[in-house]
Amino acid sequence: MERKILFAWDFHGTLEKGNERAVQELCNLVLKDFGINRELSLKEVLDWYGLSWFDYFKNAFLAGSPELWQNMVNKVFSYQKTGWELIKKYISAQDFAEDVLKKIKERGHQNIILTNSKQDHAEKFIETLGFAKYFDKIAGVDGYLNAHKNLSTEEKKQNAKADALKEFLLGSNFTKIIMIGDNESDIRAGKMVGAKTYLFAAPGKNKKTEATGADHIIFDLREVLKEL
Ligand SMILES: [Mg+2]
Repeated sequence: MERKILFAWDFHGTLEKGNERAVQELCNLVLKDFGINRELSLKEVLDWYGLSWFDYFKNAFLAGSPELWQNMVNKVFSYQKTGWELIKKYISAQDFAEDVLKKIKERGHQNIILTNSKQDHAEKFIETLGFAKYFDKIAGVDGYLNAHKNLSTEEKKQNAKADALKEFLLGSNFTKIIMIGDNESDIRAGKMVGAKTYLFAAPGKNKKTEATGADHIIFDLREVLKEL
């Protein structure tokens, strides 16, 4: 009998690094466009990483209004070309990410991506790193958020990822599921589908780790290969 393992991966902050610099530069460009004399530090961007654009601008300029913050979000999307240029400039694969993904595929197991973005954005990000060949499925889970309207942002994300994963698992028969991510919502999503969970604590990012309840906390992605 085939014994396949599924590795479900978060993307931002887990398989990539550097995207936060593109976010920082883009935010600062927009703040400047709106005549706001304020530049976000990299630390602020990292502390808020994973929030929506709307919340970024809200946090950056609390004296604003929902209308203003939304206009800023619209401005970000009008910068699409610049945005992707910045992303390509700053993003790179997380240390050892490619080795790990490749080894999993070579051994006949599967990788999928669960990321909080639109489907086309998710695919473009993965393509930017040249990683599409390692994945059996790329899921931008934004479409699943609406089913969880009344929950907090973190709970929405966790549920959206769990929903996408459950859908992928329908009719499949994996011997075990491993979920790897750098946020508490990734760990919770994994637990919702009975996955073994790995919290990736990226070097240089001071995230709370113990409180997430992850089965393992790792500082090097190669640690997940012990599941093979
Ligand atoms: Mg992440």
